[in-house]
Amino acid sequence: MRKLILAAAALIATQSEAQAPAPPKLLVVISVDQFSANLFDEYRPQWTGGLARLASGTVFRNGYQSHAATETCPGHSTLLTGDHPSRTGIISNAWIDQKVGRSDISIYCAEDESVPGTSSTAYKASPKHLLVPTLGELMKARWPGSRTVAVAGKDRAAIMMGGQRPDQRWYWTGTRFQTDLAGAAVPAVVTRVNAAVAAALAQPRDPLEPTPFCQSKAREIPIEGGGKPVGAGRLARKAGEANAFRASPELDGDTLALAAGLIDELKLGRGAAPDLLAISLSATDYVGHAYGTEGEEMCLQLTELDRELGDFFKVLDSRGIPYAVALTADHGGKDVPERERLAGVAKATRVNSALFPAEMGKALVARLGLSGPGLIGGSPQGDIYLDAHLKQADRARLLAAAVAAYKADPQVAAVFTARQIARTPAPTGNPVGWSLIQRARASFYPGRSGDFVVFLKRDITPIANTSSYVATHGSPYDYDRRVPILFWRPGRTGTTVERPAETTDILPTIASMIGLPIAAGSIDGHCLPEPAGAACKR
Ligand SMILES: [Zn+2]
Repeated sequence: MRKLILAAAALIATQSEAQAPAPPKLLVVISVDQFSANLFDEYRPQWTGGLARLASGTVFRNGYQSHAATETCPGHSTLLTGDHPSRTGIISNAWIDQKVGRSDISIYCAEDESVPGTSSTAYKASPKHLLVPTLGELMKARWPGSRTVAVAGKDRAAIMMGGQRPDQRWYWTGTRFQTDLAGAAVPAVVTRVNAAVAAALAQPRDPLEPTPFCQSKAREIPIEGGGKPVGAGRLARKAGEANAFRASPELDGDTLALAAGLIDELKLGRGAAPDLLAISLSATDYVGHAYGTEGEEMCLQLTELDRELGDFFKVLDSRGIPYAVALTADHGGKDVPERERLAGVAKATRVNSALFPAEMGKALVARLGLSGPGLIGGSPQGDIYLDAHLKQADRARLLAAAVAAYKADPQVAAVFTARQIARTPAPTGNPVGWSLIQRARASFYPGRSGDFVVFLKRDITPIANTSSYVATHGSPYDYDRRVPILFWRPGRTGTTVERPAETTDILPTIASMIGLPIAAGSIDGHCLPEPAGAACKR
C-alpha cells in the first residue's frame, strides 16, 4: 500500500509553504496505538520521516492519558471528546453487565448488546456507549457541510474517534476493512485497498531490513509463562498469517493508504466547511503485545511507521489543502519484564496467577462457604465485579474478604471499592500529581465500573500465561499514562514543551484553530496556546 502513496506523491512537486497561515480546512488527528512517551523520547533522534516533521512542530513530550484504565477504548474516547472516561462512559475495553439478558455478560465498549443473537465477541459494532459528542459532531452542528471520516486498524478506535454519525468509518476486521455504517455507497478506494490487502496477505513477507540502530537492539530474550522468545525478530510472516500481518507495518501502511485515498475521493478539505480525518494506527500496539517494546521488532515497526507517515504527509502536501495535524496515543506501554530485568529494573516481574479474579474468587467462595464464581473479571488489574446472584449480606462479606485478600498480597499496590471511588471528587489540574484513587476516579462510571478496583505494584506485568501476548499496558502508572502530544502545520515550526498536557486538551486546541467555540467548562480539557494556529480564548 505504500506504493499507492508513493506513486501519488511522485506526481507532484513538493509542498508550497511560508504563506500567512489560513485556518486549516482539514484537521488530521492521528492516534498511534501504544505509542508511549518513553518510546517517543528514545526514538526521537532516529526519526527522519513523518515523525521528524511532527517533532519539528509543537511537542508536548509529557502528554497524559490521565486516567487509571490505560486501554485502547478509554484512551481513544478522550482524544476527540475532550473528556476523561468518567464522562465519556468508556471505562475500559470491556466491562461486566450482569443484567444484560444474554449468556455473555461481558460488554464490549464499541458494541450494541441489545441486538439479538450477539455477544461481546460476535457483536454489532456501535458507538452507543460513548456518552458525549465528538469533535466531528460539534463541527457538523456549526457547519452542516463539514465531513468526518475515521479510518483505523481497530473498530473501537474508529468508533471512539468518529463518534455517532461520521460520514465514513472504516476499520480493519482481521482480513479487510469494514464499516458499521449502513446505507452509504462503498468508496472505490475501499474496494481497491481491500483487494490489494487480500493479494498481499496471500503472499509471505520477507524479513524487514534492520537499520544499524535496530540491529543493535537484536537480542533473543527467553519469556516465562510458555511464550516464545522475543527480541531478535524481523517481522517476516508466512502466506495468510493475518495476526502477523496486523502486528507489522503492513497494517499501518494500508490504513494510511486508505486514509489518503479517502481524502481524494471525498475531496476532504476542499469544501466550504472544515473537515475532520481521524486515523488510528494499530500495528505498534500489536507489535508491543507480541514482542515487547525494546526489541528489534518494535524498532523495525517504528522505523517503518516514521517512513509511512512521511509518505502520507507528502501526499497531503501535494494536494494543496491547508491542513493541521495532531498526533498522540491512546495509552503508553511497557516492555516484557524478562528484558526489563536485564536493563536493571530489578522488580519487573509477571503477576502471580492466584490474583486473577477467577482464581481469587474460587478461593474466597470456598473459604466463605458460598457458591458460584464469587468474583467476575478478566484481569488481576482494574475492575472486578461481585457475582450478583449472591445475597446482599454474602456480597458484603465477599467484598470485605476480597479487598482484604488483595491488599494482603505483596504484588498489590492498592484496592479501592466503588463506593470509595464515587466519593472522590473528579480530579483536575496537573495529572502528574494525581493520587491512585484520583486516577481511578477519572476512569469511573457508575453502572459500568466494577465493585472494586485492584492496582498491582509498579513494574508488575498482569500477564501470567504468555502463549499469545507477552507484554501489555492498562496500569495507572506513567509508563502507560504518558504519551506524546504533537501539533504540526505545514511551514510552521514549534518548540518542545515540558509542562504536562492532557489528551483531553487536543479537542479544544484544534477547535480553536478552526474558530469552533467550545463553551468554557463544558469539557474536561483546556485549550493549549503553544501550537501554531491555536487561538485560545482567555
Ligand atoms: Zn491501544
